[in-house]
Amino acid sequence: MYDLLLKGSRLYDGSGMPSYNGDVAIMGGKIVDIGRLNGGAKRTLNVDGLAVAPGFIDPHTHMDAQLFWDPLGTSSCFHGVTSVVIGNCGLSLAPAKPEDRDALVKSFVRVEAISRRVLEEGIQWQWTSTAEYLNALGVRLGINVGALVGHIAVRHYVMGEDAVERQATAEEVAKMKQLVRLGMEAGAVGFSTNQNPRHIREDKKPVASRLASDEELGSLLDVLGEMNAGIVQLSGGGTDARGRIAYAAAMARRSGRPVLWQSISHSWTRPDHWKGMLEATAQVFQEEGLPIYAMTQAKPFEMRYTLLDAQCFDEFPTWKIAMFSPVDIRKRMFADAACRKKLRAEAIEDSSASVFPRRWDVVNIDQVKLAKNKSLEKQTVEAVAKLQVKDGLDCFLDLSLEENLETRFSHITTQGDPKAVCEILKHPSVVVGQSDAGAHMGYDARFGYCTAFLGRWVRDHGIMSLEEAVSKLTFRVASIFGLNDRGLLRLGMAADITVFDPATINTLEPEYVQDLPGNETRMIQRAAGVPYTIVNGELVIENDAPTGALPGKVLRPTAWEN
Ligand SMILES: [Zn+2]
Repeated sequence: MYDLLLKGSRLYDGSGMPSYNGDVAIMGGKIVDIGRLNGGAKRTLNVDGLAVAPGFIDPHTHMDAQLFWDPLGTSSCFHGVTSVVIGNCGLSLAPAKPEDRDALVKSFVRVEAISRRVLEEGIQWQWTSTAEYLNALGVRLGINVGALVGHIAVRHYVMGEDAVERQATAEEVAKMKQLVRLGMEAGAVGFSTNQNPRHIREDKKPVASRLASDEELGSLLDVLGEMNAGIVQLSGGGTDARGRIAYAAAMARRSGRPVLWQSISHSWTRPDHWKGMLEATAQVFQEEGLPIYAMTQAKPFEMRYTLLDAQCFDEFPTWKIAMFSPVDIRKRMFADAACRKKLRAEAIEDSSASVFPRRWDVVNIDQVKLAKNKSLEKQTVEAVAKLQVKDGLDCFLDLSLEENLETRFSHITTQGDPKAVCEILKHPSVVVGQSDAGAHMGYDARFGYCTAFLGRWVRDHGIMSLEEAVSKLTFRVASIFGLNDRGLLRLGMAADITVFDPATINTLEPEYVQDLPGNETRMIQRAAGVPYTIVNGELVIENDAPTGALPGKVLRPTAWEN
């Protein structure tokens, strides 16, 4: 007697092979039969006309803290995600000595825009090592989790607050290597680092990994090479993309391990830049056979912000001074004509690449505070400036000042041009993901990337076959991470399964809910056309609602289970 039988499905098995009709039987958390099945089952789901695929694997999240209060990892699970990878961008919550916890909180608060109150109320620190952290995490999980060892945590563990001040000594690097080794032995799926020049802590200091020399990073990756295990995740940033690709290649060459680097995407300030990056990545793969993969996003990156919480101006010096000043001083700066001149020169008149689009026709007024300004909502700043016969920056700042800096604006920083996005998504060296789920919960909702990819890009734009697309979200990610029992519908594989309707699958409009620790608000997003999500053989989402089951596991690469 099977535990669960899926009847009448069309199977997209993750390999990219043509889909076919068949039933899937599950017992003891594993797939035990596929084909035309007539055995009895404790529960049978009629999934006629629906697609059955391996559960989607999200390779880039920041749910390190969230999973403690939200073991199902909402909203990702609504979109068919059954496994997530945490510890990205150099940020993990372990290893951590009690005296270094606040350094990690400071980094998460600013880089991932998770509020201090949420982290302080939501994390019950009961670990020092990666092994203890993974055990604490594994107590209550709805989805599966693979963890990277974060460079920032490792550095603070060895160097304390010196980690944000200086390079490490040879002796300190040797201690860090030992921590990486212990983390990998505990079952981590790899190592992550962060060299993004924009990534600073709450106290404006650079995150610790940014002070590492190339030799330090190379030495830490040697551990993965020696163990022949784990992937390397590089969080970059800055303008020198070719330099970053060369860097990723150097790290792959040295460690012999797969490298996932961030990221290839379209940006308004450099509209053709992505082409050169795709070519350079493919060249490294083809010429040297080095497994380096670029991440990309299936959803435009939409920033929503007020001038109380915006980070998108941090790269402009005068803006940065304003944003880090107390609110009354900030307001005075925004009101001052001489200061505005500088703000305009830095954000609009300068032509170097930036996350701010440097044009007001793609900046929207998302939400106003005062009733009298209601008619301005959903208009672009440029349109309103024209009506008011004003310069764009004056319009932007005047409105914000009038509303006590509480006006909410939005703009798309990356992936705004559909033609470019199609080409990037199709590329074989590109991994679709980068949801950042668990991070910037106030303004971003990229956790719906799987449903956006399958709905908007694969169905509506027809960029590739559904078989190919499913493979990109499942088997290929599992292969890179060495999760050898996931990502395919095959006998003996873990029964992580997503059931969806190819005709209707999509993301729905984001909503705000007040369910975070400390009673704080976050943005969530639900999906259309994903009725069932199954983790280790148990339904966790049924007809869009959580079932209450918590069958998730900490994923340890197969090499370490044997
Ligand atoms: Zn990240």
